[in-house]
Amino acid sequence: MAWKQVLKTTGKDNRIYRNNPESCYTFSVNKIAGLYIHIPFCARKCTYCNFNTTDFVEGLAARYCQAVAAEIHYWGQRLAKEESSLLPIDTIYFGGGTPSIVEAEQLATILAACRRHFQVTADAEITIEINPATLSPQKLTAWLAAGINRASVGIQSFLDSELIALSRTHDSQQALQTIAALRAAGFQNISLDLIAGLPQQTKTNWQYNLHEALLLRPEHLSLYLLEVKEGTQLFSQIKRGQRPQPDDDLAAQLYEMMCAATAEAGYEQYEISNFALASRAPKKSLRSKHNLKYWSDTPFYGMGCGAHSYDGRMRWVNTLPTETYVEQVAAQGQAIHERRRLDDTERATEAIFMALRLTEGIDLAAFRDEYGMDILATYGAELERSADAELITIEAGRLRLTARGRLLSNEVFMIFV
Ligand code: SF4
Repeated sequence: MAWKQVLKTTGKDNRIYRNNPESCYTFSVNKIAGLYIHIPFCARKCTYCNFNTTDFVEGLAARYCQAVAAEIHYWGQRLAKEESSLLPIDTIYFGGGTPSIVEAEQLATILAACRRHFQVTADAEITIEINPATLSPQKLTAWLAAGINRASVGIQSFLDSELIALSRTHDSQQALQTIAALRAAGFQNISLDLIAGLPQQTKTNWQYNLHEALLLRPEHLSLYLLEVKEGTQLFSQIKRGQRPQPDDDLAAQLYEMMCAATAEAGYEQYEISNFALASRAPKKSLRSKHNLKYWSDTPFYGMGCGAHSYDGRMRWVNTLPTETYVEQVAAQGQAIHERRRLDDTERATEAIFMALRLTEGIDLAAFRDEYGMDILATYGAELERSADAELITIEAGRLRLTARGRLLSNEVFMIFV
């Protein structure tokens, strides 16, 4: 959903929040929410990964999926009680971890719970993240039968040497077979993830990865620059000198290469790392409907261990460890670990730096109407410096990142934190 549309569909008197924690989740925003479902299991940990994951164990996965269905029941009932009807949802996103590692029937049970306890719209976008090493023909058929209509495939690289270095469990052949199998099964909305700036990656290697990805004509591409996070194996490897430090200048060149190659191939860059193929159907956008919720201040509810939620005013996060999450849901229906109520300024500043990720930027007048904040008056001096550094533009009433600003976005976002 475009930012401007979001603002248009947001009433001014439609947020009713109370201080009582038991009733602070009132959802009265007339923007349709999304559901995120976290499946934490992975065959093994990739070297760069700092997500909340755990080793795949069949018995635990079965109990976990039951717990997620129970948590969906809890939240569906709670929100329906506050709204006097089931809450409408138009996106469901299975993320992880590796959602494709669990039995398809387990995901179908979770989806059935979503449909029972939320009002899932007929045209809902339902995405599953897939690791190519975990695919089977039976799973594909069962996913489609359950209503999953979008596949986000974690390719990361088409070069086996890079996949081995990342400790991925698939090879390039499996990646290609996965896309072919998804197409043959009838998936019409496929997104591929690639990572740029891997240790020892050359421009030639990245060019090859881009070329292979674009040849497949996925509907969507998520192309991320590698971030080395503390606590990951890669972080330790670099610290021990086993791998070179990432080269920022090279990363900038790889980013420029991806923007140029995708544009030439007919993809629209709509977010810092996300590119959508121009749709053949005039009114159908191939942007990620679910991820747009994060960038456009739309509520989303996260189910599963470590999942985050936002209802328009409160943010909360579930308990991280898988076993503890299962126990907590069994005891109390939900598994909130921590929650925070945003004040007006926090809500506005978060909305700014999330919306700035989008290429279309922010309509300043509409923002002022919605959030009561004049961005130029509040951050004028800092924004002027960013404009001088060619990181942002303010034109025709819109604040946007420039191409250079998208590469150095964290510098701009610092203004608002
Ligand atoms: S498959 Fe994804 S979630 Fe699992 S360890 Fe690798 S990067 Fe992390």
